[in-house]
Amino acid sequence: MQQNQKSPQTHLQQTLKNPKSQTMDFNAAPRNLDEVFELISRSPSGYRVLERFRPLHQQGKVAIQPYPLEVVARLREAIGPDQPIGASFVNDGTTGTIYLDPASPLGILAPFLLHEMVHALDQDVWRAGVGPQSPEERDETMLLAETGAFELQHTVIQELCAQVPGYREFMSAQSQRARILHEKLTSEDVVALYGFKIA
Ligand SMILES: [Zn+2]
Repeated sequence: MQQNQKSPQTHLQQTLKNPKSQTMDFNAAPRNLDEVFELISRSPSGYRVLERFRPLHQQGKVAIQPYPLEVVARLREAIGPDQPIGASFVNDGTTGTIYLDPASPLGILAPFLLHEMVHALDQDVWRAGVGPQSPEERDETMLLAETGAFELQHTVIQELCAQVPGYREFMSAQSQRARILHEKLTSEDVVALYGFKIA
């Protein structure tokens, strides 16, 4: 018997136990969710968000799911073949789900997931999920939520560029793709991006 050969199962367990032992390929789809968490946690601000988010995820209050295939197809058609599909957070006031496209590159999924985790930690976003709020009130709530989430996303990207070897180069190479990953958006940008109607 080949006692020295690791079974795929053992290898996976070791990877999960010690994800840092693997080099990260920012351009490839992540091997698992832990790899995305791992990248996020290498930024101090991302680490703090993750610490607050993890209990919600572990207790089943917020699930993380791939988009249904038909939704991916529709989004793909709407945004074009080269743009990454952003993540999104939906909730009914009691439980919530973060949807993402697991085929996206690891280096892009990390800031997208971080952004949605910030929403999942925002009590105003949960309240907006149930109402009663007028459409205008809801827009105003979401404008604040988006501005805050984009700001933190920007900070985390800056920290990753400073601390994770190769991440800055990866991000520069992405510059022609998603603008929302690069620039610090102002509230006016967020209004333009989402079409909020602010009274
Ligand atoms: Zn958002």
